[in-house]
Amino acid sequence: PTRADITYFGAGPAALPTDVLETAAQALLDYNGTGLGIAEHSHRSELATNIINEAKADLANYLDIPAADYDVIFMQAGGTGEFAASVYNLVGAWVARQHAEVLKEPWDGANEDAVVAALRHRIQRDLKLDYIVTGGWSLKAYQEAVRLLGPEYVNLAADARTNNDGKFGKIPDPSTWKLSKDAALVYYCDNETVDGVEFPEFPSVLAPREDGSGPIVVADMSSNILSRRVPVSNYSLLFFGAQKNLGCTGVTVAVLKKSFLPPTTTQPSPALLRKLGLPIPPIMLQYETIAKNNSLYNTLSIFDVYIAGLVLKKLLKTFPDKVDGQQAVAEKKASIIYAALEAYPDVYHIVPDKSVRSRMNICFRVTKNGNVDETEKAFLKEATSLGLTGLKGHRSVGGIRASNYNSIPLEGAEKLARFIDAFAKA
Ligand code: PLP
Repeated sequence: PTRADITYFGAGPAALPTDVLETAAQALLDYNGTGLGIAEHSHRSELATNIINEAKADLANYLDIPAADYDVIFMQAGGTGEFAASVYNLVGAWVARQHAEVLKEPWDGANEDAVVAALRHRIQRDLKLDYIVTGGWSLKAYQEAVRLLGPEYVNLAADARTNNDGKFGKIPDPSTWKLSKDAALVYYCDNETVDGVEFPEFPSVLAPREDGSGPIVVADMSSNILSRRVPVSNYSLLFFGAQKNLGCTGVTVAVLKKSFLPPTTTQPSPALLRKLGLPIPPIMLQYETIAKNNSLYNTLSIFDVYIAGLVLKKLLKTFPDKVDGQQAVAEKKASIIYAALEAYPDVYHIVPDKSVRSRMNICFRVTKNGNVDETEKAFLKEATSLGLTGLKGHRSVGGIRASNYNSIPLEGAEKLARFIDAFAKA
C-alpha cells in the first residue's frame, strides 16, 4: 500500500499530515536554501533559536497559554521522564518553600544543622504527593514517585480500580478523593491512552480558590493535548510527549507556571537534598535549568521541534478559532465512531464507562458467537485489508483501540465507522 491507502489509528507514534512530512523531508536535505539540512544545523544557531521561539509562540497562541505566567520548554525525557521530572521539581519547590519558612523562624538560622533538622522534621510530617490513578499511565507515574521517594511520601488519593472489579474504566467521584493538605503536587492523567478514559473536564475539586491559592496540579496531557481547550491557569505543570498530536517522537513539552522558576523559587542545592535524604534531579530533568537556557541546556533535536512547529502552523491556519475548532472536529469524529459501535451492542462492547469515554483512544471488544479472540483477529485482518491499520489494543489490555488523534481526517473516522457497521452486519 501507499500512504494514501492507509488510515493509521496507532496510539503513538501517530500519523503525521503528509504535507508536513513533505516539507520536513525537503528540510532534511536543505533547510531554507542553506545547503545544510535541519537535522545538521547547530542547535545553537540563530535559525534553531528561531524555530524554538516560533514553536513556543505558536503553541501559546493556539492554546491561549498566558505568557506572563507560564513558560514552555522542550525536553527529551518522554512522558516517562516527566513522571520523574514532576516529582523532582515539585518536591524541590516544596522544600524551597519550607526552607524559606524555616529561615523565618525566630532562631539562629545560620545554624545549618538546626535548619536541616527542622526541614527533616517537616518532610517526615508533611511531605505528600497525591496521585489520582485512572489508568495505566497515571499508575506508572504513581509507581515512579514511589520508586524515587519511597511509599511514605506518596498518597494514592484515588484508584479507579477500586469498586470496579479491579479494572480501569471509570473516574472515581472527586468528592471521594483523599487529597492531602498542602500536597507538593496533585497528579492526574487527562487522557489514559491504554484504557480509553478521559477526564470530561477539569476536576473542579482541584480548581484554584478565589484568592488564587489552591492545589499544585500536574497533568499528563500526552495523548489529548491540542484537541480541546485547556484551562492552563489551573495547572502548575502540564506536560506531553509530541508523538500523538504534536509531532514525532523525541521531543517532550512542559508548560510551567513561572512561580516554580527563578527568581521566585530556586531548587534546593544538591548538598541540601543529600542531607535531607531526598533524590537529586539529573540536570536534564531540572526545569529551572532547561528554562533558563531556552530549552538548550544540551543538544536538542531541532528537527523534532521543527516538525512540531509545522503541525502548529497548520493547525493555526486550519482553525481560525484555534483549539476550539479542532475540538469540534475531534468531538465529531469520536461521536461518529462511538455511534457506530453503540448500534450493535451484541457485537461491540465499549470498554470504559460512558461518562469518561476518551475522544482520542476508543477502546472496545468485539464478539461474535461468544468468541472474542477469533472475532477480534478477523476484525483486525479485515480492517487492515481496507487500509484501516494500527487498531490493535495495547498489549496489557488486548481488544481493539482506535486512536482518533488530530491527524485522522473526518473521512478516516467515517471510513472506520462504515467498517464497524459492515463487520457487525456480515
Ligand atoms: N503518558 C501517556 C498518557 C502516554 O500515552 C504515554 C505513551 O504512550 C506516556 C505517558 C509515556 O510516554 P513515553 O513513551 O514518551 O515515555
